[in-house]
Amino acid sequence: ATPTSIMVGTGRAAELGVLFRRGEALQGLRDVQAVAFDKTGTLTLGQPALTDVILADGFTEADVLSAVAAVERNSEHPIAQAIVEGAQARGLTIPEPDDFNALPGFGAEAIVEGRRVQVGADRYMETLGVSVAIFTSQSEQLAQQAKTPLYAAIDGRLAALLAVADPIKDSAPQALAALRAAGLKVVMITGDNRRTAAAVGKQLELDEIVAEVLPDGKVAAIVALQARYGRVAFVGDGVNDAPALASADIGIAMGAGTDIAIESADVVLMRGDLRGVATAIDLSRSVIRNIR
Ligand code: ADP
Ligand code: MG
Repeated sequence: ATPTSIMVGTGRAAELGVLFRRGEALQGLRDVQAVAFDKTGTLTLGQPALTDVILADGFTEADVLSAVAAVERNSEHPIAQAIVEGAQARGLTIPEPDDFNALPGFGAEAIVEGRRVQVGADRYMETLGVSVAIFTSQSEQLAQQAKTPLYAAIDGRLAALLAVADPIKDSAPQALAALRAAGLKVVMITGDNRRTAAAVGKQLELDEIVAEVLPDGKVAAIVALQARYGRVAFVGDGVNDAPALASADIGIAMGAGTDIAIESADVVLMRGDLRGVATAIDLSRSVIRNIR
């Protein structure tokens, strides 16, 4: 493509809310064969709400929820905010914790009024040697409703099964349909539970789901997709998406995403509308076609 046609193409894209941080990305996008999306905050709103609290024997909701919210008040994970808001909505006081510790991809822990409180995914409980077997069928049911199951342990004893739900964005189904219509594979990559991811995927008709990926695993997932499909674009918003945005053939960040995600991307969707991905690919195809 000539510099002029790239200028025209990127200018047209900007009018549509798609910002090209690097002009060469307009050419690169033309040959993309698959688009992989982060789940939380990209395909979903990223504003989960607490939906369920199921207690183990000997625990009360007020006790468990205020202890867990105390851990989460210092955490930046979207799930943490859901739990804090859930506790506030029930009028609970949230104590100030000591020794807060976040374990990305697993959960978080702290000392709350002298007790060790741990909250996170099933794999986190596994590393602690806390069995979640009593909640197996309930947690599967929650995950099938596209909710994310979480567990709370207090002083090494399982205290509750919690769930949060994060609705998919209005623009997601249409955005993915447009990409499939353009002949592209669409993939979701998430750290979330396999069953939850499958339930979300069902609403979106994805070609492939890569679930239960640890924060460092997103780059490996992109490399595997490149081996399978060819050139891959990755769409993400979070701090832990930055390495995958940089290693994909084309990185696309959400405009409302973190600074580090935007700085690692080639393209930014300024209006947060996922349909911008198909718009950008259409533009790149027509601009390059006109020059040849
Ligand atoms: P994603 O952003 O794709 O959901 P993460 O790597 O951030 O993936 O988290 C993976 C999983 O680890 C979450 O789905 C959740 O189960 C658990 N987790 C991580 N951090 C926390 C936290 N602060 N509180 C509760 N659960 C957490
Ligand atoms: Mg995200």
